[in-house]
Amino acid sequence: MADLYRVLPEEMDVLVTELGQPRYRSQQLLQALYHESPKKVSDLHQIPSSMRDALVKDGYMIGPENEVNRVISKDGHTTKILLKFDDNALVETVLMQYSPSQDKTHPRSTVCVSTQVGCPMGCVFCATGQMGFEKNLKAENIVSQVLHFSDILSQRGEHVTNLVFMGMGEPLANYDETIRAVRLLTHPRAFGLGQRSITISTVGIIPGIDRLADEDLQVKLAISLHAPNDELRRKLVPTAGPNSVGDLIAAAKRYFKKTGRRVTFEYALIEGINDSIKLASELACILKGNGAHVNLIPMNPTAGGFQRPDRKKVLAFQQVLRNGDVNCTVRVEKGAEISAACGQLRTDMIKKIR
Ligand code: SAH
Ligand code: SF4
Repeated sequence: MADLYRVLPEEMDVLVTELGQPRYRSQQLLQALYHESPKKVSDLHQIPSSMRDALVKDGYMIGPENEVNRVISKDGHTTKILLKFDDNALVETVLMQYSPSQDKTHPRSTVCVSTQVGCPMGCVFCATGQMGFEKNLKAENIVSQVLHFSDILSQRGEHVTNLVFMGMGEPLANYDETIRAVRLLTHPRAFGLGQRSITISTVGIIPGIDRLADEDLQVKLAISLHAPNDELRRKLVPTAGPNSVGDLIAAAKRYFKKTGRRVTFEYALIEGINDSIKLASELACILKGNGAHVNLIPMNPTAGGFQRPDRKKVLAFQQVLRNGDVNCTVRVEKGAEISAACGQLRTDMIKKIR
């Protein structure tokens, strides 16, 4: 069986021709898939029933996804859902909305997708890392997460404006399916989101970063650094293995050289672990002069007992970086009270089920 939501437009052209149909049917099919939210092949009324039958006979389907839980933050800006796919995979997706700027009528609506069920990387402060690794998601599962929120938004006259690969899992450890999903979501004949509106976040899989630099894609890249030296980083990211902080910075430089796009370094700030002024200076020192951007993420508390530093400490850390000529922002707090850090909702839900 093959899901129609993993078929790229070029592949759809071939498929339609093989079914003996005129080429324009391919566009009708894509238009229906990405703009009419069909739930099954029989919902595709835009194409003749003989063609629908032929698709089913050839093993094509639309995999169901069920929303099993939804939580909305008190301010209404963050919505987190748990989706169940037909193989029983349970996956988290988050929508974060930011008020429209004065010249825009729509809010910025960023969807945060998962690429794996669980994660093999085991970062100690991350709820997903602590649940272990279950499986890779397919491109169609990633696309479905975006379309699910796209449907919700379109009912109120809004649309998805940005996409971040910051949910459960490590996107570059599921490289081919992640890139297929990016191509489907950005293809003008499919979902049509701007490539520059997409950010892929990686814990630092270096061959994946180099591969991504060679793709003809304009996506942004974020590398989760969390520490300025190897000793501390290996405690927080136990699977960092032989990759040193220096290797990651070198990979980011290569990415910039190839693509012309600067890499953001993410740094989850954990109280008493990686938030000291000394570490901020060390970080400023290693990043100085290479045009890097640091995004500080005061951590969402998870089961590991880690806490976030207070606001004063976060700002002090930021100031040290700025004084050292390193561009540094603090992530806007979104949805902490609904367990918005990746993996938390699924962990809470599974505990409840058990
Ligand atoms: N695996 C990829 C992408 C998913 S995690 C990566 O690690 O980059 C997305 C971001 O959320 C990463 O920067 C990660 O460090 C961060 N994160 C994980 N757990 C968190 C927590 N409890 N609080 C704040 N940020 C967290
Ligand atoms: Fe995986 Fe990213 Fe969580 Fe680390 S932070 S365990 S890489 S999802």
